[in-house]
Order: sequence, then C-alpha cells, then structure tokens
Amino acid sequence: MTELAKRAGAPAPSGWTYAPAPESTEIVRLRDRYGLFVGGEWLDATEHYTTVAPRDESPLAEVGQASAADVEGAVAAARGAFGTWSKLPGSERAKYMFRIARILAERSREFAVLESLNGGKPIKESRDVDVPLAAAHFFYYAGWADKLEYAFPNRSPKPLGVAGQIIPWNFPLLMLAWKIAPALAAGNTVVLKPAETTPLTALLFCDVVRQAELPPGVVNIVTGDGSTGAALVDAEIDKVAFTGSTDVGKAIQRRLAGTGKKLTLELGGKAANIVFDDCALDQAVEGIVNGIYFNQGHVCCAGSRLFVQESIYEPVVEKLKRRMATLRVGDPLDKNTDVGAINSRMQLEKIEELVAAGTEEGAEIYQPPCDLPEKGYWFAPTVFTNVAQSYRIAQEEIFGPVLSVLTFRTPDEAVEKANNTPYGLSAGVWTEKGSRILWMAERLRAGVVWANTFNRFDPTSPFGGYKESGFGREGGLHGMEPYLDFS
Ligand code: NDP
Repeated sequence: MTELAKRAGAPAPSGWTYAPAPESTEIVRLRDRYGLFVGGEWLDATEHYTTVAPRDESPLAEVGQASAADVEGAVAAARGAFGTWSKLPGSERAKYMFRIARILAERSREFAVLESLNGGKPIKESRDVDVPLAAAHFFYYAGWADKLEYAFPNRSPKPLGVAGQIIPWNFPLLMLAWKIAPALAAGNTVVLKPAETTPLTALLFCDVVRQAELPPGVVNIVTGDGSTGAALVDAEIDKVAFTGSTDVGKAIQRRLAGTGKKLTLELGGKAANIVFDDCALDQAVEGIVNGIYFNQGHVCCAGSRLFVQESIYEPVVEKLKRRMATLRVGDPLDKNTDVGAINSRMQLEKIEELVAAGTEEGAEIYQPPCDLPEKGYWFAPTVFTNVAQSYRIAQEEIFGPVLSVLTFRTPDEAVEKANNTPYGLSAGVWTEKGSRILWMAERLRAGVVWANTFNRFDPTSPFGGYKESGFGREGGLHGMEPYLDFS
C-alpha cells in the first residue's frame, strides 16, 4: 500500500480524546453592575439588563441601558473634550494611543478570557487573533497621528468632531479598536455603543482609557440595546460609523439622509470561496474550514458559499467532511476548542431556521458527530451539498457555522455565480496560477479578495464592501479618511 493510500484510509482523528485544558477565569474581575462611561467617570444608568455567558447562560454582570438623555450627555462630554483633543499636536495624541496599545498587550490575557466568556468564541481565537489585532490597530494608527499632512498631502486634513460608533457582537474588542483608533488618531472624540450581548470588553476598555490617562471625554462608552444605538444616530454628532446587519445599516442611512452627518457602513456578506482544480487541495480545505468555522461563522466576511470546480468536487467534499470530523466543539474557555458557543439564543434560532429551510428546499446536510454541551447555545459545524443558487442558504447571511457547497466548470461561470448575491464584502480564490488570481480579483465584486488564504487581517489593509455590504473602508489610510474633513 502506498503512503498516500494508507493516509487516505486512516480514520479521521475525531475519536481522539483531549484532556481538558481550561483557561482560568480568575484573571477577570467583574463588577456586579456597570454604569455608563462618560467624561472619564462612571455614571449610573436608570435601567439595567443582565449580560450572560453563551457557553452556559450563566449571568455575568448587570449592564446599563442608556436612554436618549444618557446618550446626549455622552455626546456633550465628547463635544467638550473635542476642543482640547483636536488641538493637541499629533505626536501627543500618538503617545496616548501607543500607551493604550501597550496596555492592551500587557492585559491581553484578561481581555481574551473576558471576550471568550461574554462572546462564546474559542479562547485560542480571542488570545491569538482578536486581542493582538486590537492592540495592533492602536499601534498602527498611533503612527499616523502626527503624519496626517504627509498621509494626505495638499488636502489640509482636519478632524470632524464627535463620532458616534455602533459595533456588533462578533468581534467586540476588535471592532472597538477598528472604530476608536482611526477616530482618535485623526483628532476626533467618540461615543461608542457596543452590542447588547457583548458589552464587557468595551467596559473593561474604559479601565484602559483611564490607565492611559486619556483626557476625560475623549472616549465615552454607552451600553444598551438597539434603541441606544438609534439615539446615538440621532444625537448631535458629526459622523456615524456602523458595523452590523444590512437592515439596520439601511435604516441608519435613511435616518441620516439630508442631515449632513457623515456615514460609513460595514454590513453583511455572503462570501464566495472559489476552489480551482489546480490548487493545493489540503491547504484549500484548511482555508475552507477557517473561512466558515472560525468564530462559529459569526464573521461578516465568512466564506459561507464554497464554489468547487466540478472535476474535484468529490475529493474536496470528502476531505472537507473528514476535516470537519476533527473539529472540537465545546467550552470556549478550553484551549483545545476549535468551535465555541453561538453568541445568543436569538442568533441560534436564526441559524436553526435557515438550516431547516436548507433541508426543506432540498439540500443535503452533513454534520460530524459531536457531543454538544447541554447548557448554553450550540450548533454543530454543518455543510450543505446539492445546493441551488436560489436556496435561502445560498442567498442569505446565516452568520453561523454553516457552509453551502456549489460547483462551477469555468472561471467565467465561477465569477458569475460568485457575484450573484446582493452582498460584496469578500471572496477567496484557490489556484496555483497567479494570472488566474489577478483575472478573478478584477472581476469579483468584493471589497477584499484573498488568494490561497482566507480571513487574513492586518491594520494596514483596508477592509469594506460593495453593494449591500456597505461603503467606506476601515483599516489602512483608507480607514482614516472617513474621520477627516478636507474642505
Ligand atoms: P444589528 O445590526 O441589529 O446590530 C449591530 C449593532 O447595531 C448593535 O450594537 C445593535 O444593538 C445596534 N442597533 C440595533 N438596532 C439599531 C438601530 N435601529 N439604530 C442603531 N443601532 C442599532 O445586528 P444583530 O446583532 O441583530 O444581528 C442580526 C444579524 O445581522 C445577524 O444574524 C447577522 O446576519 C448580521 N450581523 C452582521 C454583522 C457584520 O459584521 N456584518 C455583525 C452582526 C450581525 P443591539 O446589540 O442592542 O441590538
């Protein structure tokens, strides 16, 4: 028997047992109740709600529900701080930002544990991706703070004023960094609203803001549900930066029409991950798995539609299923875990509904055997084959660990099918031919196209969408522009 044949016949190591490797939660000191962080102080909120751990639904803390009046107070604090902050030399602003970056790096374990506890994502992801990237964003934008005139030559860049920033629950700390770092570097002050289900790392960040001795009012954090977000959109701010669902993004755009407030939207996606028959197959399978099961598929740029060239359909699906059987689903705080908990009951119900629709419409479902914990919100990694382009699972953003597999024969067909969606956030191409990568990248209507990799992020690289995936870019110099006035 050849070595390859032996390996092909070997059982997938799904039966291996891993000794539990739980990360201790002791490093995190939660308060029983949090207020709102306004003007450098903690203010009491009149109402509160409980935020829970998705892994077992246990309550973690009481969090303030900011009212419209609370939001106005936060905006007033940001406005008050703007005069001083915007007039500081860029090199001074940079010092504060470098300090924030360093503190984030120093307290990275605490942030990683809290992110996994409150959001449900595997600790190895929050530890190795979310927190280091968040610190990297502050480092990167700190570097630009005193170089704006060089970054935008002959355009007299000036800060806008107060930015209202609304972020989702899938990358709570990282989205905070994507929003706050460029805004501060450009000389703006901010009021940020984290998502209702994942406020805790943003609240811990307030501690970092104080530790860095950032002038009071430069960063304000108001927690609450969608009504708090809506109040922020309506408040006396100069710019709205929103990441979240396309529906809410559209509602915000309608609300802002004619107000003169600037807007950037980073919305949903239904990315095509396109695999050609000349690719390195095993690497592609790793990329497919990373593309859809990273962060339980709670990723706007997740590679949720897999397009496989017809000639390699069988081996790709077979290898994919074998690899899926090795994924370890379970406690987000266990260092072995690959796929953690679903963020909330609401999101779990949405995933279940769309998966049921996929089966009803005629797609074939595969889920590897895995024991899901009894408590908490869980969904097994799932792949659908026999999917038609018209099925809901091929059209709608599921935002869960669910992959739809489709096929194509020619590059033209791949492009046509990949672009057949209202979204246009990201795409992936797997092939050994550089010329084909460039040919595809030119034609794919997606803000980011990864070649022979997927879900790679870097603070220097702009990220954003086409069509219903939004407009404006975050990251890189492009990410500074929306926070500057050039008139
Ligand atoms: P939302 O778009 O509702 O939430 C994003 C943020 O906006 C949250 O902070 C939310 O607050 C806030 N918000 C809600 N309503 C309003 C409003 N009217 N005005 C201003 N801000 C508002 O996403 P969901 O959390 O409800 O998720 C729903 C779906 O959206 C997911 O299933 C997924 O498909 C998609 N999604 C896409 C994301 C992306 O990155 N592209 C990120 C998150 C979700 P609150 O948390 O209190 O609702």
